[in-house]
Amino acid sequence: MTPTLLAQLNQLIANDEVAKFYQWKQWRFLRSRVRKKYNNECQRCKDLGKQSKSDMVHHEKSVRDYPELALSFDNCKPLCNPCHNLEHPEKFGKVKKVKKFMNEERW
Ligand SMILES: [Zn+2]
Ligand SMILES: [Zn+2]
Repeated sequence: MTPTLLAQLNQLIANDEVAKFYQWKQWRFLRSRVRKKYNNECQRCKDLGKQSKSDMVHHEKSVRDYPELALSFDNCKPLCNPCHNLEHPEKFGKVKKVKKFMNEERW
C-alpha cells in the first residue's frame, strides 16, 4: 500500500464509498493472487474439514478499521458466501436471528 493509495482509501472511507475500493485494479490483482494461493477454496470450510469453492476474498481485519492492511496479502482469505456471512454478523443481522432462534428453542 503506497501512501498515495492509502490517502485515496482513507478518502473513500470518509465518504462512505468503500465499495469503490473493490473496483481498484490493485485489489483485483491481490484477490486473484489470494485465490490462487488457496486453490480457490473456502478457508473456513477447510478448517471444518469440508471442501467448498470460495465465492469471494474476505479481509480478516476490515478495510474500514485497518485501511493500511486493505492490500496486504496476509490479511485476505477466500471464503464461500455462507461462511462470509458468518464473518460479518453486524452486516447481515445474523446475531439477532441466532438469538431469536435460541429463545424459540428454549420455549
Ligand atoms: Zn465456507
Ligand atoms: Zn468480509
